[in-house]
Amino acid sequence: MSLLDTDRIREDFPVLDRNVASGQPLAYLDNAASTQRPRAVIDAMDDCYRRYYSNVHRGIHTLSEESTRAYEMARKTTASFINAPATCEVIFAAGTTAAINTVARSWGDTHVGPDDVILVLISEHHANIVPWHQLAARTGCRVEFVPMDENFEISDAVVAEYLDRFQPKMFAFAAASNTLGSEYPVQRWTSMAHDYGATVLIDAAQAAPHQQIDVQAWDADFIVFSGHKVCGPTGIGVLYGKQELLEEIPAFLGGGGMILNVTTDGFTSQELPEKFEAGTPPIVEAIGLAAALKYLSAIGMDRIHAHECVLGQRVDAGLRAIDGVRVIGPTADKKAGINSFLIDGVHAHDVSQFLDGYGVAVRAGHHCTMPLHEAMGVTATTRASCYLYNTPAEVDRLLEAVTDVRSKFAKSGRRRRSRRSAE
Ligand code: PMP
Repeated sequence: MSLLDTDRIREDFPVLDRNVASGQPLAYLDNAASTQRPRAVIDAMDDCYRRYYSNVHRGIHTLSEESTRAYEMARKTTASFINAPATCEVIFAAGTTAAINTVARSWGDTHVGPDDVILVLISEHHANIVPWHQLAARTGCRVEFVPMDENFEISDAVVAEYLDRFQPKMFAFAAASNTLGSEYPVQRWTSMAHDYGATVLIDAAQAAPHQQIDVQAWDADFIVFSGHKVCGPTGIGVLYGKQELLEEIPAFLGGGGMILNVTTDGFTSQELPEKFEAGTPPIVEAIGLAAALKYLSAIGMDRIHAHECVLGQRVDAGLRAIDGVRVIGPTADKKAGINSFLIDGVHAHDVSQFLDGYGVAVRAGHHCTMPLHEAMGVTATTRASCYLYNTPAEVDRLLEAVTDVRSKFAKSGRRRRSRRSAE
């Protein structure tokens, strides 16, 4: 596996040059929460605002036509990024959360009844749990969780067992876990779920930044991801659905833009994709997203994935070698750039705060995976997540800082213990 030319890539990301409050240069290892934006994205959005911004679809004037063209071109770019057979299968949503909520409403309310089961993994982000709990409250269906084993892994056999036991109406799972870093076999599990007649939703929030998404190969019914995790803007995400399914289910949000006709008695919906895009859409964000997808594609998703694997393995091996540090996740060969960990005797929030003092940005907490943390018997972890612009030197700064934090706390813990024993 080879590393990317990070010197070259880092020139594209203005923010990576800065120092943090402690005066240390920034080592940004919080990419699973949100990535940074290259100039190509900033410039594309800036250009739209400066030269041709207007509302789309409704105006018959130059600016509106130019904005509409750019917005629809962004949809085409997105469709081609995920290899969607039809451009109208790409719906722009506010993000992964909004997209899953749309499916839980539009598909869930029309396909799920009191005897049905929605199956998810124990490692799911709250965005892929709460909308199903809400669906359960509306319909009386149940949400069931596929557990993981003591190595933080979920085997095909366990997935098959749960599909067989619950015969779920929906199997909704993340292609990659935002806490464990695990990458799951999307194609295989989708095919297994289809054999049981389940509809499949893939939360690709942590996969889209790092892997080539091929919706035709994956064959899932719905696939969702967020713009801000693929170097794009906030406020935009993608809901991909198979055309037949999107045509069959009703719209969730109602309002302008999604209707063909409105009378005092009711309304008829627009065709795809407008049917699912009520109100003024995220126009400039879509243009920014397309610029981000083009940027990543030009580097190559396979090369990005390989780069992150090298860095992720360096983090994993380095953390495991520090006495008193525990990696929370599978072995390095089963994940890419995300590593969550615990330092004995130090709360995850304190770890994160200390690391900030070294210029290292990581995340601490439950990472919106409370059921997973409960299953692991911990309340919070610290997470370091790498992306295409990170370097081995930054990983080493993380490891040195963790070693320092560990030894400082181990000493003060010993001092506290010896004071206590003297009392
Ligand atoms: N699913 C996963 C796996 C995630 O990592 C995230 C973001 N942390 C989400 C869903 C939610 O994404 P967003 O906040 O962009 O809607």
